[in-house]
Formats: sequence, C-alpha cells, structure tokens
Amino acid sequence: LSAGTPVKAGAATHCPYCALQCGMRVTVGETVTIVPRQDVPANAGGLCQKGWTAGEPLTSGERLTTPLLYGEAATWDEALDVVAERIREIQREHGPDGVAVFGGGGLTNEKAYQLGKFARMVLRTSQIDYNGRFCMSSAAAAANRAFGMDRGLPFPITDLAAADAVLIAGGNVAETMPPFVRHLAAMRDRGGRLVVVDPRATATAGQADLHLQPTPGTDLALALGLLHIVIAEGHVDEDYVTRRTSGFDAVRTSVAAWWPERVERITGVPVARMRLAVEMLGGAARAAILTGRGAEQHAKGTDTVSAFINLALALGLPGREGSGYGCVTGQGNGQGGREHGQKADQLPGYRRIDDPAARAHVARVWGIAPEDLPGPGRSAYELLESLGAGGGPRALLLFGSNPVVSAPRAGHVAERLGSLDLLVVSDLFMSETAALADVVLPTTQWAEESGTVTNLEGRVLLRRQAAVPPAGVRSDLEILRGLAVRLRGAEGFPTDPREVFDELRRASAGGTADYAGITYERIAAETGVFWPCPAEDHPGTPRPFLDRFATPDGRARFVPVEHRPPREDVDGDYPLYLTTGRVLAHYQSGVQTRRVAALNAVVAEAFVELHPDLAERMEVSSGDRLRVVGRRGVTEGVARVNPAIRADTVFMPFHWPGVNLLTNPALDPVSRMPEFKVCAVRLERAG
Ligand code: SF4
Repeated sequence: LSAGTPVKAGAATHCPYCALQCGMRVTVGETVTIVPRQDVPANAGGLCQKGWTAGEPLTSGERLTTPLLYGEAATWDEALDVVAERIREIQREHGPDGVAVFGGGGLTNEKAYQLGKFARMVLRTSQIDYNGRFCMSSAAAAANRAFGMDRGLPFPITDLAAADAVLIAGGNVAETMPPFVRHLAAMRDRGGRLVVVDPRATATAGQADLHLQPTPGTDLALALGLLHIVIAEGHVDEDYVTRRTSGFDAVRTSVAAWWPERVERITGVPVARMRLAVEMLGGAARAAILTGRGAEQHAKGTDTVSAFINLALALGLPGREGSGYGCVTGQGNGQGGREHGQKADQLPGYRRIDDPAARAHVARVWGIAPEDLPGPGRSAYELLESLGAGGGPRALLLFGSNPVVSAPRAGHVAERLGSLDLLVVSDLFMSETAALADVVLPTTQWAEESGTVTNLEGRVLLRRQAAVPPAGVRSDLEILRGLAVRLRGAEGFPTDPREVFDELRRASAGGTADYAGITYERIAAETGVFWPCPAEDHPGTPRPFLDRFATPDGRARFVPVEHRPPREDVDGDYPLYLTTGRVLAHYQSGVQTRRVAALNAVVAEAFVELHPDLAERMEVSSGDRLRVVGRRGVTEGVARVNPAIRADTVFMPFHWPGVNLLTNPALDPVSRMPEFKVCAVRLERAG
C-alpha cells in the first residue's frame, strides 16, 4: 500500500496513541517522517517508541481498503444498504433498543459527538457506551462526586515540574507515556520527591524516591492508612479544610479505624514506609496526588480514588496553584471521548442525560423534541453481556474498539457478539472483533483526517491531515452520514470535521465541558485551549478550581469510604493474584502496534512475569511457556522471571488476546468499571 498522497509536508499534529497526545510533525511521502514538536508542553520535543513508529500503520499491507459483507468484498453502497436494511428490520421487531452502539476513547471529539448524536437521534437507542468505561470511569466518578467536575489533570502538566512532591498510585507512566517522566524528573532535579504505589517495581517505581508495594487490590486500605497518619501527625491543612471543603468530620471519624499496623497487615506495606510517604507529602509546599488504572480498575475503584482525593483534600492540595489531584487518563482521547455523548449516561458538554435542562438544550441544538431523546442505557460491560440475550440488543455497531481483546471475561463477550443478528465493525485492520463481524467497514486513520482531541490536561488539540487516505476507505463521519441518510434521510450529519466541531461547540455551551469559545483557529494559534472556555474572548481555564470547585456550594466534598477485599480472592485452587497492564512498546488491544515491526521486535507476544521464588518453586526459567488458569478461562505466555513483582502475584500485559479471558467482570457500583486489576489464578507449565 502506498502511503497516500501528501496533503501537507510537516503537518503539525499529535500522536495517534495515548492521552499525553505528544505533538509531532508528519510528512507523508515514499515513507512517513515523524519529528517531535517542541511547542507542545506535554512532550516538548520528546516521543516514545510508539510515537516514532506511528507512521507504519499508515502504510501497512494489512490495511483494510474495501468493505466486507459477510466475508466478501462489497461496494460502499452495497454494504451501507445492507446495514441500514438490517437495522430497520431489527428495530421493527425489537424496538429502538434492539440496536446498540459501542464507541472508543481513541475517536476524535467530532467522531465521539457524532456517534452519540447518531445513536440517539437516528437510531433513537439508549444502548450506547464505549471502551473508556474500562479506562478512567472510576476516577471520573470520584472526581465528579468530590469536585463536581472531572477533568483528568485540573492543571497544566508542567505544574508537576514545580511541585515538591508527587505521589502516583497505580500509574506506570515511564512505560505507558514516557515523555511524562520529564516533568517528574524536572521536579526531582529541584529536590522534589516522587512516591509510587504499585504492586510491581515498575520502571516508574524505579525512578521513585519511595516505592510502596501493596498487595493487589489493597490500594484503598493504603490510602486510608496514609490519611490516618496525616491526621495523627498533624499534617491536615485545617484552614484549607475549613474554607474550601465539606464533610471532613465524617472522614476523620471513619479513618480512625485504619491505624497503620492494621493497614500493614492488609497491604503488606511497612508502617515506616507509610510514615515516610506522609512525611514527603506533608512536608511539601506544593504537591500532587495522581491515580492511574492500577488504583482505578477495581470493583471498588471509585472508592479507591475517593480515598486518594480525601488524602489530597486533607493536605490542602486541590485548587491550589502548583498542587492538586489528577487522573492520568490513558486513551488518546480518553478525556474528550467522555465529554461528548458516547457514554450511556451523558449528553454533549459532559451533561447528564437524566437532567431535563441538559436534554432540552441538546434537543434544541439537534432540532428534535426533548422527549424524543432516549434515556440512559447500559454501561459497557453490561451492554456487551446483554447482546443477543433475552431483552438485549440484537445488533451492534462498533467504532474504534476491540472488546474481544480488551473486555473482561472476553470469551463470554466473544460469545455474545457471535450471537447477534448483526455485528458491524468499523476499523483500520482486521481486529479480533472485526473478524467476527457480518459487515466490516474500513476507515481512515489519524494522519489521513483532521479533528480535535482533548488530552489528559483537558487541553483541546488539533490533529491536522497529512495525507489523502487510500482509495476505498471512508472516515467514520462519512459512514455515519451514509447510514443517517439511508435510515432517516437525515440532515445534520456533515462529514467535514470543522462543521461537526462547530455544532459540538453549540451543544456543549453552558455544560461542564464547555467548548463554546474554542475554534480550530484558536487551537492552532495557542497550541491548544483548556476547557471550560465559554466564549471566543475567554482565555480557557488551565486550573478550574483556583477560586471554587464545581459543586453547588463551591466546596470540595470529602467522601467517607471503606476498604473491602477484591471480589475474587486467592484460595487453594487459585493461589496467585493476576494483575494486568501495559508495556512500553504496545498500545491498548494492540490492533495498531502489533502491526509495527519495530515494536514487535521489542515485545512480540504476551508474557507472564513472575517472582524468582515462585519460579524456583515451579522449576520455571525465563523463556518457558506457562499456562495461566483462572475461573473464567485459560491463557498462555512466555515466562519472564523478575524480582520486580511480588511473589504472590503474576503480571500479564493486555495487548494480546488471552489475558482478558481470565479477568473479572465484577463491576464498581458507581462507575461500572470492571475489576481488571486483580483476579485469582494458578500457573502450570504449558505442554
Ligand atoms: Fe507520546 Fe503517548 Fe504517543 Fe508515546 S504513545 S509518543 S507518550 S502520545
């Protein structure tokens, strides 16, 4: 496949992968040349291996370039006609909710917005959610209940360099987003301290001044113990707590029971190390507490994040310049993807779908009656689990996601997808999920189209087109328009991203994530604009909580929470904890990065990381093949013996099919996040 016709040499754009959204210049010619941008603060001239090699998927010979209809090549008209006809038939028989939509946190803001509008206005289905539910939903839920607003980092990432202490709970940024580390390194160069909480001695933990290594599933107890020490040793910022928060007394009472020795018994973290962490944080003039998926992907993920937010509030950090709490969002547009209506419970502008004023506003922008807007639907896993079952959707349209690899209890998810009357997948490559589809629609990718993304700081950025897409592929916006016209003769589904963005601005106006004042021109001129930005003469809001929080009384809310064990604990049959995560060379379910030779040269297949003591007991060496057996499935991987992991825990990356056959779909009651980060397994030698 040729790289496509260049549109602009050195087009200023952003990486197609993670939420750091590193700035880069792309030139598409015989080959693709990528040069990091200095003007984007998040990476300031840095890129990781994934970013440097992001040109390869553009020219991959495995690229899909023609629609597939029941396995046969088809024209676009044939494919879209069949999809529209089948949707009509299924909705006639099963009603509007007979058809569901599943989106992705990698879709641009324009696509995420249009997907939500298509689902609710054209299909009139309530059944829409997206894979971001598996990413940061617990942090979003906890931030919303504490601050009345969820914006990953409610401060510019460069603030971290000026802090005196940073605690990261369950985030391995040195592997997942390496340029992030330069901000932490700058902090440490000034004498600041880095504390990392992780069951593994990760690359990030290796750079920390203090590593706390809790048993998987016990971060919540650890956070309660840290707050207990903060209170006991007089580190509470009483003036801040009085002026800027509510509800501290209940939390003060509840953490009294979490004395350090009790927490040590539960977490395995020595009391002395907990005290040291508190000393580092409590003694810092400016400090930040960050959470990542390790703390969040639990059936108690929301409460775990609340416990870390309580800690930050007691120390007086959120809403103070140079300090705060933040979530290290994972997917490329994980932040924007959750603001514009892909979520089952939300409308554009980060509005609640059950809020009558929000419904009236969005319905007005869309030119429909509020009562024609469906209500809330099922969350991602619940939606996938309901497919094809009694009362569940009979058809699914899926954009930018690969749940056969990325969903928990993935074998069951594959079965549900296989039971559908219609599965339509839009993707660049024949992903494991696309391979199950009745209709596969080949789409454009990052450098072949324009659009905006919102990075982990809440900074809205512009991706510019660098090349004409290969013949035969269409953008998701074109696909949605093609279906909207066939199903309802609908107007209002433009294919120009700028037109979609202008409507998104109107739909988000007055909402929490207010983009009304953001234009493509401003983003280009200002290298990104922070939301909320309610008017074109508004400067944007890098630090939204400096004066007040987004709660009705302007105060941040302490939320009392209690620790409980993982939903599935170890026992005689399954004596080891399994935890999952990412490696530097790959991204998410690997659909793109598993097709990049230079990245496969680094890691080509799933591995099982285990401690030398465990390896010795099993007489296993690095390179041996292991079977990992859990209650929901079995997978295999190559042994990697590594003292960096606890002896009671094994780790597998989730970029390849397999490990999510084992993970536990037990859901957090608030965020509906599955418990990806801990389940019970046993190891066997393969063969
Ligand atoms: Fe930057 Fe993330 Fe892309 Fe790496 S994957 S270059 S850290 S945006």
